[in-house]
Amino acid sequence: MPIPYPISDVKIWGRTGPGRSWLGSLAASSLVVLAPIGTIVLYIGFDVIILRYDPRPTAEAAFAIACWVGWQAVLFQVLPAEVCEGQYTPAGHALTYRLNGLSAWIITHLVWVTLCWAGILDPAFIARNWSGLVATMNLGGVLVAALAFAKAYIYPTHPRDRKFSGSSVYDFYMGIELNPRLGQNFDFKLFSNGHLGMMIWTLIDFSNMAYQYQTAGHVTLSLALLSALQTLYVLDFFVNESWYLGTIDIAHDHYGFYLAWGCICFLPTMYTIQAQYLGLYPTRPSNTYLAAVFGLGLAGYAMFRSVNNQRHKARLLGRNCRIWGKPAEFIVASYTTADGKRRESLLLCSGWWGWSRHANYVGDLVFSFSSCALVGSPQIVVWTYAFWMTMLLVHRCMRDEKRLEVKYGDAWAEYCKRVPWRFLPGVW
Ligand code: NDP
Repeated sequence: MPIPYPISDVKIWGRTGPGRSWLGSLAASSLVVLAPIGTIVLYIGFDVIILRYDPRPTAEAAFAIACWVGWQAVLFQVLPAEVCEGQYTPAGHALTYRLNGLSAWIITHLVWVTLCWAGILDPAFIARNWSGLVATMNLGGVLVAALAFAKAYIYPTHPRDRKFSGSSVYDFYMGIELNPRLGQNFDFKLFSNGHLGMMIWTLIDFSNMAYQYQTAGHVTLSLALLSALQTLYVLDFFVNESWYLGTIDIAHDHYGFYLAWGCICFLPTMYTIQAQYLGLYPTRPSNTYLAAVFGLGLAGYAMFRSVNNQRHKARLLGRNCRIWGKPAEFIVASYTTADGKRRESLLLCSGWWGWSRHANYVGDLVFSFSSCALVGSPQIVVWTYAFWMTMLLVHRCMRDEKRLEVKYGDAWAEYCKRVPWRFLPGVW
């Protein structure tokens, strides 16, 4: 809409002046949507909603979650593992990680199938006990975040890799310790992100398939394709677990409510919304529609994997790396760790990383929107996952770039000049 008077850069008292960041506009627009809904929730009564839908922990759900966490902790500790080194931390540590997520995933799912086959476990147990499980995971996530917060003060793993913002609330939210561990190997982040969060995703999908089968007498193609697509994504995560060590989750984000509650409660509840919906309300989009959307989802996944592989390969092989048949091009970026040592990173400028600075996010978004589209419903709740991923990845891109600007200085500026687009060339 045209502005009815000229905007000048000069600030006038009583006005904040022109130039709102798009993030500020996004926050404002969230309020525009949430405030009216909030008044309706107030009118109905929050307690009435809670009582009506009954999301409270049950003994059964608490027992199931305790078994789940205990079982995963045992697998994490005892299964043979590939030992890989992570990136240098700001304090100059290069930690080793025991990676056995793939074998843990296979064993977990084989045990699940066997228990269901033997009639010991209802394959639809998760779907049938969902409200109790959500409530228990919610409390569990908050509890783990609180433990991580206390541990950071009382018993930190690497004291010089802690981050204090000056606000305890913010520290609780974003985390203090970078790599909290119990003993040498029990890494909180790797365990809760992979073994608790990603691992349960496929079981939730399968449980909703079982629920649909038990209640509707069949499994719809849309739910089968959705589960296949998401299983591919989860398996990819575990097959490429060493790549995960170089991502922001492990290499840069500190462990607080954001990661602990996020992986223990938010990931299982939010990322599986489409399967939950289809378990309750089967849909029947046409086969042509499903084939097209499934194909798009596979294409998104292929792009996501190819971009991530290029970076991983470039960091492993350095100057010997070839991308798309040509020697890879790099910008040499140096940075200093807290021990005073000057270190070097290579910023890849070839292949996808010369196309845009976060092409992996684009692939992930194509994948996310396709999985929501597989449901074949215009209901907003079905699309929540894709909207969430858009917000998460756009925000992630902004905060990562801010950090890289400080870490690499001129080298980062040079990369941004050479590859000016964040997501889609010509768009943003
Ligand atoms: P990246 O894997 O893109 O890692 C970003 C880091 O890569 C930067 O911090 C920097 O680290 C390094 N880097 C940046 N530019 C270059 C370059 N040109 N060459 C070499 N290294 C570079 O981001 P994420 O960790 O956020 O995401 C990893 C994947 O996981 C993505 O595909 C994303 O879509 C997905 N993801 C999925 C989520 C989900 O919930 N499903 C959540 C988050 C991510 P350094 O300091 O080492 O230089």
